[in-house]
Amino acid sequence: MDIILEQPYIQPLHKDWHRQQVASVAMLRLDVLHPVVSGNKWYKLKHNIQYALSEGYTQILTFGGAYSNHLVAAAATAKAYGIGAIGIVKGQYAEKQLTPTLKECMDYGMQLHFATNEDYAKKGTADYLESLSNRYNAPFIIPEGGANEWGREGAAEIAQLIPQDYSHICVSVGTGTTLVGIYNGTGSEQQVLGYVPMKHGSYMKEIVYTHLEGMDTSRLSLYDTWHFGGFGKHTAELVSFMNTFYNDTQVPLDMVYTAKMMYGVQEQINSGFFPADADILCIHTGGLQGNVSLGGQLIY
Ligand SMILES: *Cc1c(COP(=O)(O)O)cnc(C)c1O
Repeated sequence: MDIILEQPYIQPLHKDWHRQQVASVAMLRLDVLHPVVSGNKWYKLKHNIQYALSEGYTQILTFGGAYSNHLVAAAATAKAYGIGAIGIVKGQYAEKQLTPTLKECMDYGMQLHFATNEDYAKKGTADYLESLSNRYNAPFIIPEGGANEWGREGAAEIAQLIPQDYSHICVSVGTGTTLVGIYNGTGSEQQVLGYVPMKHGSYMKEIVYTHLEGMDTSRLSLYDTWHFGGFGKHTAELVSFMNTFYNDTQVPLDMVYTAKMMYGVQEQINSGFFPADADILCIHTGGLQGNVSLGGQLIY
């Protein structure tokens, strides 16, 4: 499988979509980068893998669930850079139970290791990491979601695709790595809004602010209202929103992150939250491969 990347671009949304309550809304289509590699994941992983190669590592090891955008992106990015990849998967799956995401990981040459939920929960502890390191011959370990300094550095590269004249930049939040990178890379006049798809997601504030310690954070805000039941969960209303959005804009959204963000942005626009002269840029971080878990409910 070759890794061919397309160039991201900015797509304006028709003024009917925002009912002229703001000056403009556009999406930065990172999703077009690759059908399987989520836009933001590529940037985070690229910097991790470049660092690993520069340090002489021949393999990376990272973590993810059975539908993880990060895991499959890690498999593809490792393949593109010619470095080996080991994926620690949450849960134990027999060969015939493999999800399309996990099959794709294997097609890219990733070696999968199935961890019990109990072991997986230890993925941040030194002992467990050491045992994995011994077992797999000292690979470069990338935390789940690429949430480390190289991930944040890679995400800052996304900011180079954001023109200065956008007043509000909207991005969805998982580990907060992309949000922090974009915040670091945007201008002093640009507001950055993070949409957390987790229930009780306000704990993300602490994580994000820790990485911005000592900096002016007045341009940043986080919202955890639009979680639709929690991370990875959805409602019929969300699916219907995704279909309507696709009809109106021809932009496919993913169920876990970008659909919840755009629902929130639309609600904020309709309630007059944004100033009338706002030029809003929403980052489409990709994740479309995860929509397989919705079965045939989408029109795209
Ligand atoms: C992983 C992911 C995010 C969240 O990125 P973080 O850097 O972990 O906050 C957002 N959108 C999509 C589509 C993703 O796959």
